[in-house]
Amino acid sequence: MSETIFGKIIRGEIPCHKVYEDDRVLAFLDINPLSRGHTLVIPKEPAQTLDTLSEESAAALGRVLPRICRAVIAVTGVKEYNVLENNGGGAHQAIAHVHFHIIPKPNHAEGLGIGWPMQPLAPPTGAALAAKLRAALE
Ligand code: AMP
Repeated sequence: MSETIFGKIIRGEIPCHKVYEDDRVLAFLDINPLSRGHTLVIPKEPAQTLDTLSEESAAALGRVLPRICRAVIAVTGVKEYNVLENNGGGAHQAIAHVHFHIIPKPNHAEGLGIGWPMQPLAPPTGAALAAKLRAALE
């Protein structure tokens, strides 16, 4: 995997506003926040996308994410928020190192704006697709 700015932050080569750290996880403030308290939670493992991350790092992230969300809520006073994790440039991933955004949503103007181009799922299409996914998971 190519070097990223988050790798440099993990190694302490460039600064960050650190919020949390353990053996596998680092959390720090986003440098261009969408709202006050916008925090990034990253694995120390240098995986580019979530599908390539080890179960150990995924478990470590999952274990600590709710706790960091509670801290963000407590400090900002904002109870509504989005957790976002982008994978690939077409999906708005700018930095090729897995990172979860915790983004407080204090009002309509601040925080994450979401386009949601939904389409109905026809039952036969859904049944066939779910069967394929179950098979892929075996
Ligand atoms: P994404 O589009 O999901 O890859 O988001 C990358 C995020 O990293 C953006 O929200 C940036 O503002 C943030 N970011 C980039 N460089 C830094 C940095 N040095 N410290 C903190 N956050 C950063």
